[in-house]
Amino acid sequence: MNSKLKDLSLKIFVTGGAGFIGSALVRHLINDTNHSVINIDKLSYAGNLQSIESVTNNKRYFFEKIDICDAPKLNQVFKYYKPDIVMHLAAESHVDRSIDNPYIFIKSNIIGTYTLLEETKNYWESLKEEKKSHFRFHHVSTDEVYGDLPHPDEQSGVLPLFNETSSYAPSSPYSASKASSDHLVRAWHKTYKLPTLISNCSNNYGPFHFPEKLIPLTILNALKGKPLKIYAKGNQIRDWLHVEDHARALLLVAEKGIIGETYNIGSNNEKKNIDVVKTICSTLEELAPIKKSSLKIQNYKSLISFVNDRPGHDMRYGIDASKIKKELGWSPIETFDKGIRKTVQWYIDNQLWCQNIQDN
Ligand code: NAD
Repeated sequence: MNSKLKDLSLKIFVTGGAGFIGSALVRHLINDTNHSVINIDKLSYAGNLQSIESVTNNKRYFFEKIDICDAPKLNQVFKYYKPDIVMHLAAESHVDRSIDNPYIFIKSNIIGTYTLLEETKNYWESLKEEKKSHFRFHHVSTDEVYGDLPHPDEQSGVLPLFNETSSYAPSSPYSASKASSDHLVRAWHKTYKLPTLISNCSNNYGPFHFPEKLIPLTILNALKGKPLKIYAKGNQIRDWLHVEDHARALLLVAEKGIIGETYNIGSNNEKKNIDVVKTICSTLEELAPIKKSSLKIQNYKSLISFVNDRPGHDMRYGIDASKIKKELGWSPIETFDKGIRKTVQWYIDNQLWCQNIQDN
């Protein structure tokens, strides 16, 4: 833990702090810094206060149940808490849901970001010079805004990665809504001089991940002996980053990043979906052996089945994270092998958390 961080005591708004990444960030802020956290979350199906139960009794933690599309309520909390930093994570985040029902993605991710930017700008403009000059708005985004990269099955040689100058080419309603929100944030910086930063991160994994996403869904379905459904042949490649490494990167960007800049966050862990699922299966063979369970299957891998591909499915994402490494000194701590093992163990140990979420 950087001792300088411990000394700083800022008031930080975290939107979406009851979600997967937001809750990791809230835990990091409360456990590893002296900052106060005001968690602003509407508690959608993906928001769960149990994910931050370990820190909610801390006197530096506050919660406001607010939809970021609600300007008057945002206005009230800005006036009441007077934050030094806004870290904006609240969003609809599941690509499959965005294909079935794009409207809520347009609403929360675009209108919500617009509303938050406007309320942030009004607040920031009202500040006295000293506080105004230190204020920061950090928008948390995804590598999916950059679209699709060439795949090793189709192209040999050195394959390109996304960097901070890559063009935007989103494929899904989710990634298009996130791309729109990134553009709004840049516009509020260029036009109104609002001190903003953006980070674009690769796929996260780790504890407290909503069990509709590939990794937690695979673990939980395998433990129940349900089919492990994989899109097409499972050759889609994602660059997997442990959520706690992401949380550390986010705080560094918010505190030390250069205003107006973008930082890509990833960990050089490109894996095919099918390989991720097979790794989970073999890890489960060790941590939850079939012979000790009531399952009537030979092994977990026998549960794998293939279904029609998702429309607009990008084949590969990969991040060049050299800028954040060089300029802010960040690098991931967790290797994929250790991180996935810990994650599988966490889901085995926390089936009650999963059951509560699924029941709700
Ligand atoms: P999540 O779906 O787990 O959590 C989202 C949180 O936002 C939930 O607590 C939800 O209640 C809240 N929320 C949604 N709409 C809201 C609204 N209108 N007002 C207030 N709160 C609202 O998402 P996540 O995986 O933790 O992702 C967090 C952010 O990080 C998102 O902006 C996402 O685009 C981005 N991101 C995610 C990943 C990933 O792999 N999960 C990777 C890169 C970037």
